Amino acid sequence: MPMFLPRFTIDQPSTLGEASRLLREYGEDGCVYAGGTELLLAMKKGGLRYGHLVDIKTVPGLDAVAQQDGAVRIGALATHMALERSSLVRSKLPIFAQVEARVANPRVRASGTLGGNLCFGEPHSDPATLLLCLEPTLRVTGADGSREVPLPVFMVGPYEVALEPGELLESVTVPLLGAHQRAAYRKFQLHEYPMLGLALVLDLDQRGAVTTSARVAIGSVSPTPRRSEAAEALLVGERGAVRGRLDEAANALADDADLLDDHEGSAEYKRHLIGVFLKQAFEEATADTSAASGGRGS
Ligand SMILES: Cc1cc2nc3c(=O)[nH]c(=O)nc-3n(C[C@H](O)[C@H](O)[C@H](O)COP(=O)(O)OP(=O)(O)OC[C@H]3O[C@@H](n4cnc5c(N)ncnc54)[C@H](O)[C@@H]3O)c2cc1C
Repeated sequence: MPMFLPRFTIDQPSTLGEASRLLREYGEDGCVYAGGTELLLAMKKGGLRYGHLVDIKTVPGLDAVAQQDGAVRIGALATHMALERSSLVRSKLPIFAQVEARVANPRVRASGTLGGNLCFGEPHSDPATLLLCLEPTLRVTGADGSREVPLPVFMVGPYEVALEPGELLESVTVPLLGAHQRAAYRKFQLHEYPMLGLALVLDLDQRGAVTTSARVAIGSVSPTPRRSEAAEALLVGERGAVRGRLDEAANALADDADLLDDHEGSAEYKRHLIGVFLKQAFEEATADTSAASGGRGS
């Protein structure tokens, strides 16, 4: 296995339009280069080979994080560490800041970007798993203009996303959680990447006693992170009744994930962990229903 980088050129465009034109020109021999934490490693190992890298770190403002109409707009180039430390994200989307703080290690968080995480299509993505429940809109830009893509449509399969030739991810706009929404995230990690991530967002009634709607997703155990409609239906209702259905909901979640035995654990073990994490996340999300929105992660 080669562990050296083959020769390539680097372009440093100053606009996304220029980056897109370069990518179109290079075709399959060109690739976007953001933090490089996945890309350069894959190139060193010989898994990917490109003659031209288009370094988007020279595009001004692509790492900006700003509040916008009840949402936080995150530039694709924002690093995990910037998001973990952003006062805006910490105050408006605390669950997201907490999940970002537990991605990888400080070295990867310092240069790895949210855009790179999502565009690599890594099935073991913590942000993608949480974002499935936060329902963001992704803005994708190419030579012919921009379009908005929901995250489930963007995530096509393992290491495959819905970007056309020459298109780049520009930003991710994440709606803020409302006063009666609570969120929690659980993950388990043995190696460099998570083995299982579980995200939960609950809409509660005024008293916090009834779940009026629920979103639950798991990551790392399917080709892409996934939600389960069947599990979500079981999480709606009065708190005690929902608590009594948590095992059933966890099984629905596991069934929809098509769990496999692999080097990280058996399908049976993963099913067990989903049950444990769903219970923990539910208790956490409903623990202090008088507190403000946003939830906690662990
Ligand atoms: C040791 C290690 C541990 C990790 N642990 C975790 C973990 O615990 N949880 C987790 O969620 N992730 C984990 N990761 C993944 C990590 O989050 C990603 O490596 C990182 O976010 C990728 O961002 P990057 O900017 O370095 O992407 P790059 O390596 O620069 O790019 C990755 C891919 O995305 C494409 N790309 C990048 N930006 C764009 C864009 N704006 N538009 C279009 N295409 C783009 C590139 O062309 C390339 O194909 C880990 C990675 C490593 C190396």
